[in-house]
Formats: sequence, structure tokens, C-alpha cells
Amino acid sequence: MTTAMYPGSFDPVTRGHLDIIKRASRMFDKLIVAVLNNSAKTPLFTVEQRVEMLRECCKDIPNVEVASFDGLTVNFAKACGATVMVRGLRAVTDFENEMQLAHTNHALLPGIETVFLATSIKWSYLSSTIVKEAAHYRQDVSQFVTPNVEAALLAKQRHGDV
Ligand code: ADP
Repeated sequence: MTTAMYPGSFDPVTRGHLDIIKRASRMFDKLIVAVLNNSAKTPLFTVEQRVEMLRECCKDIPNVEVASFDGLTVNFAKACGATVMVRGLRAVTDFENEMQLAHTNHALLPGIETVFLATSIKWSYLSSTIVKEAAHYRQDVSQFVTPNVEAALLAKQRHGDV
């Protein structure tokens, strides 16, 4: 049985992330989507909100679990019994940073392998940052995110938070 982990900020989850989640869920017995509670970044959504949005999006995929973690990703992977780290690669601009992360994680925990999934062309330009930017300028974001995430962004708009 292979448990994989898909770590990220997911602030908020986009259709690009969901594409990776669906594809990775077919490759591994269990996939843990791990939301990083990063104190160095100021996210738009709290870690609890990000987890809740992901749970709603993934509720129909039985082998996907959503959890949050603090600290080192490899420590959380070890605690969950995950042996594979899944990351999405959008473009060459992602490559350098992702390679650095993969090598560091492997050095810290030699039992862990990183698997890169090439983003679907359709979502290759998409990022959580772009979605937040579009929401800030009152653009329709329904093509980028699921209805529950769109509703959460609209609520942030109403409060002037985005
Ligand atoms: P991080 O802060 O760790 O980069 P993100 O939530 O931005 O977290 O991304 C998590 C993972 O999802 C990363 O591997 C990233 O490359 C991937 N990813 C982000 N956007 C997309 C997308 N549009 N399509 C596929 N993968 C994506």
C-alpha cells in the first residue's frame, strides 16, 4: 500500500490543484492533501478554511484525505507513513525551486520520493495568486475555482479582504 502526500498552501485550492489531486488519487492507494500552516506567509484564508474548502472539493474521492501541518513537510510525511511526495509542475519557472525542494526532502528523509505531475495545459497558467488577483478586481473566477471556493472569495470581497 502506497501513501502519497500532496503538500501546498492551497490559498485557495484551484481547479489546477484539483486536476493534480484527481490524477494522483488514481496512482496511489491513499493521497493525503497536506495544507501547510506557514507562519512566514500571511494567507488570505485560515488553515481551517483552506482545509474545509479542500474537503468539500474532494468529498467524492474516497482515497483522498485532507489534513493540515506545521513545520517540516518531511516530518509530517513520516508521521503519516507517506513515502511519495506529489508536486505539480506548471512551467520551467517552477522547476528550479521544485528540484531544490525535492533534493532537500530526499536528503532529510531518504525514504521519500518526489513525483512530479505535469500540469494539464488548460491550467498551466493558473495559480492561487492569480485567482486572488482576479477576485480583487471583481472578476468572475468561476472558471478557475469550484463554486464553494468562489463563494468564499465573494465573502472576502464583501468584507474588503481581497
Ligand atoms: P506552494 O506554496 O507549496 O507552492 P501551492 O498551493 O501554490 O503551494 O501549490 C501546491 C502544489 O500545486 C505545487 O506543487 C504547485 O506547483 C502545484 N500547483 C499549483 N498550481 C497548479 C496548477 N494550476 N496546476 C497544477 N499544479 C499546480
